[in-house]
Amino acid sequence: MESSGGNASRIRREIEALKDEKARIEQKILELENQLREEVSLAPQQQENESVCDGCCPSLSAADANLAHGLTAGSIYRYSRHLLLPSFGVQAQSNLLKSSILVVGAGGLGSPALLYLAASGVGRLGIVDHDVVELNNMHRQVIHTETYIGQPKVKSAAAACQSINSTIQIVEHEQALRTSNALEIMSQYDIVVDATDNAPSRYMISDCCVVLGKPLVSGAALGLEGQLTVYNYKGGPCYRCLFPMPPPATACQRCSDSGVLGVVPGIIGCLQALEAIKIASDVGEPLSGQMLLFDALSARIRSVKIRGRSPQCEVCGENTTFNQQRFKDFDYEKFTQSPLSTSPQKLKLLTPESRITSKEYKERVVSGEPHVLVDVRPEHHYKIVSLPKSLNIPLTSLEARVPEISSALKGQEEGGGSGANLYVICRRGNDSQRAVECLQNMGFDLAKDIVGGLESWANDVDPNFPMY
Ligand SMILES: [Zn+2]
Repeated sequence: MESSGGNASRIRREIEALKDEKARIEQKILELENQLREEVSLAPQQQENESVCDGCCPSLSAADANLAHGLTAGSIYRYSRHLLLPSFGVQAQSNLLKSSILVVGAGGLGSPALLYLAASGVGRLGIVDHDVVELNNMHRQVIHTETYIGQPKVKSAAAACQSINSTIQIVEHEQALRTSNALEIMSQYDIVVDATDNAPSRYMISDCCVVLGKPLVSGAALGLEGQLTVYNYKGGPCYRCLFPMPPPATACQRCSDSGVLGVVPGIIGCLQALEAIKIASDVGEPLSGQMLLFDALSARIRSVKIRGRSPQCEVCGENTTFNQQRFKDFDYEKFTQSPLSTSPQKLKLLTPESRITSKEYKERVVSGEPHVLVDVRPEHHYKIVSLPKSLNIPLTSLEARVPEISSALKGQEEGGGSGANLYVICRRGNDSQRAVECLQNMGFDLAKDIVGGLESWANDVDPNFPMY
């Protein structure tokens, strides 16, 4: 056992060292590629410019071509399938090339949105994100590759966009969008795409778009469903017209995050790109005053009419006093009762006596202490991975299933211990605190929460314990 344990840690160290080396090499390649791009970027540009020369250089070969629309020969070839579309054509493409679009969030929605916006020839494409690429992003955030794990999403996304279309300008905003920087960043673009996933960001981005007079393409995807609409477009409603008050926040602070089928944000993100392209190129009818609803399981897409601009809206209504200063001072986290940052919140509901660390729990297991471990995660989480001999009673059914806990405790006491202990665990240690609070109210005075849940078990006790 000793030597296999020693072997495993040696192999792990070697993997880590090789990964570091790989990251260094990848970084070097990236730098050199960027250098190379700068070196050669002048050459094709000069070639392309020849075609739009107005006669100042008589030696140019394309002097006969009539290119009043201003598209270069390179652009004509690259976007030829757009130009061949009678309902799109040179005018729309030329509008697109002159436009600028900001995508907030380079995650599940932002990935396809950015790829298509870059490919389609948006002149200047901005990306805002402060996160790094993680392995559990890969199933839906298809703009990133494994090579970029641990690196900023903005860098990864920008490199992907640039490799698809080296002729457009990509702007990296490697920071979290806040009221302190949103006006400055968003004012640099014609159109904003909201590809974030939390309530305070939604309100903040929508309010900022109203203050700055920018159209907003908003998308959301959760589980197997998605939705899409365009806000603040030519007199249409803003997000606050529809949702003057945020939804109750309780659901957002649970540590049992909901899942999402990777392709669902993929579809909504593509539709966001489409709406942004329609607005930028001035083609078709943007989805304003309507909400598109997508249901993956039934493969159904439908559009429902939503209310128009509300004269009473606090931000865009008739008597609004909402301006740039009010925006800067507004506390979106307080308003929505949920954090702007995607990192999960750590609750602190219990006294230190009602909590033990995962290491302490491990010691008690090893010492043979009689106890019952209740895992309050939802059943489908429990099926992914669980600790041995734990009893799965989801938080939502805790009260109804108290008798099971009582009889499990009795079983332990009969097995030798008097006054067996009761421990509660969940994914990250928030729901377990709620459960302990509830159990203590029902008379289980000795109930204790395992701090940080299975996440801390994996970090501090068993590095091989699978995390999800
Ligand atoms: Zn409004």
